[in-house]
Amino acid sequence: MAEKIVPINDLRSQALAVPGAPDAPSGLLLDALGRPLHDLRISVTDRCNFRCVYCMPKEVFDKDYAYLPHSALLSFEEIARVARLFVAHGVEKLRLTGGEPLLRKDLERLVAMLRAIPTPSGRPLDLTLTTNGSLLARKARALKDAGLDRVTVSLDALDDAMFRRMNDVDFSVADVLHGIDAAHDAGLGPIKINMVVKGGTNDGEILPMARHFKGSPYILRFIEYMDVGASNGWNMAEVIPSAEVVRRIAAELPLVPVDPNYSGETAARWRYLDGGGEIGVISSVTQAFCRDCTRLRLSTEGKLYTCLFATRGHDLRALLREGRSDPEIAGAIAQLWKVRADRYSELRTVDTSGLATGARKVEMSYIGG
Ligand code: SAM
Ligand code: SF4
Ligand code: SF4
Repeated sequence: MAEKIVPINDLRSQALAVPGAPDAPSGLLLDALGRPLHDLRISVTDRCNFRCVYCMPKEVFDKDYAYLPHSALLSFEEIARVARLFVAHGVEKLRLTGGEPLLRKDLERLVAMLRAIPTPSGRPLDLTLTTNGSLLARKARALKDAGLDRVTVSLDALDDAMFRRMNDVDFSVADVLHGIDAAHDAGLGPIKINMVVKGGTNDGEILPMARHFKGSPYILRFIEYMDVGASNGWNMAEVIPSAEVVRRIAAELPLVPVDPNYSGETAARWRYLDGGGEIGVISSVTQAFCRDCTRLRLSTEGKLYTCLFATRGHDLRALLREGRSDPEIAGAIAQLWKVRADRYSELRTVDTSGLATGARKVEMSYIGG
């Protein structure tokens, strides 16, 4: 049984310092370990209509759970304003996430605002979204029309009973598959399908998922179960290493490794020897990729997190709401990134993971995956 966690509003946060004479955004910002700022993940809601056992277990995220009030959320205008400053700092990829991002009303309006942001290079922004797929069939066309490039859809099993157990709200596989096809028809591709593998729960679904998506237009990716947050009762014994996932698939469907698309790609790529497409494995636990981590996360209420496993966010919303200028906010972002030295997954040990940490890690549903 997972322990009761503190409401998000009580999590530790830190003021974001505004430098006296901010630098103009130069398009290239390096952190303390030489990593450029390349991706921004924007969480648009901390709510979700699923209760995935590894993310928002029902016994914690119940009817008494204190979600953020609407007034705490960044407005679309606030998100677009900061996104513009990030893009001026060299960010080329924006991912909308949550909670379930498609629960945020009129999300396509935000997509259109983000699409309109000019880039210093003139190359179009990569604008994408991660979703559980439940509302995709209804929303895919409007999202595409607003300028969204593509979607990643989470699906943890093909067996309907197992999937219903994983999402814990009795949602069917068929409805997610329908959403994926609708997104494909709307042109939101290439679509990636994310499967979190929880050992002893859904690992029997690795092969059925591989067989199902082999030869399809969709790229299936297997994610190692991570010790995010403080509510999922994470245990190393439930992590199936990606090497084992590849071994199990390759025993039936031969695979060969493929070079990364770009340096810093989180998924290691493999392709089927017979030309049936490719899969990816994301080994956040067993083969950390912190040295290439170019991601910054903006929470639903406007806190910046320099790592998925951070215990404290930096309050960007305060700067927005106290009337700071664009150069001041851009300067604060630059200052934060320049001192970033996070590499949690490289340093993770049994002692630092899960519930053993002194400071409470932020929940995945709040910070966005
Ligand atoms: N609700 C959307 C969804 O499920 O796609 C977006 C938010 S969700 C937090 C983003 C991604 O994080 C999903 O692919 C989900 O499976 C993954 N995720 C959540 N908790 C995880 C955990 N403990 N370990 C690994 N991945 C996790
Ligand atoms: Fe919701 Fe996504 Fe978390 Fe599942 S993984 S509970 S769909 S936010
Ligand atoms: Fe990036 Fe932190 Fe994950 Fe390492 S642990 S890859 S620094 S988010």
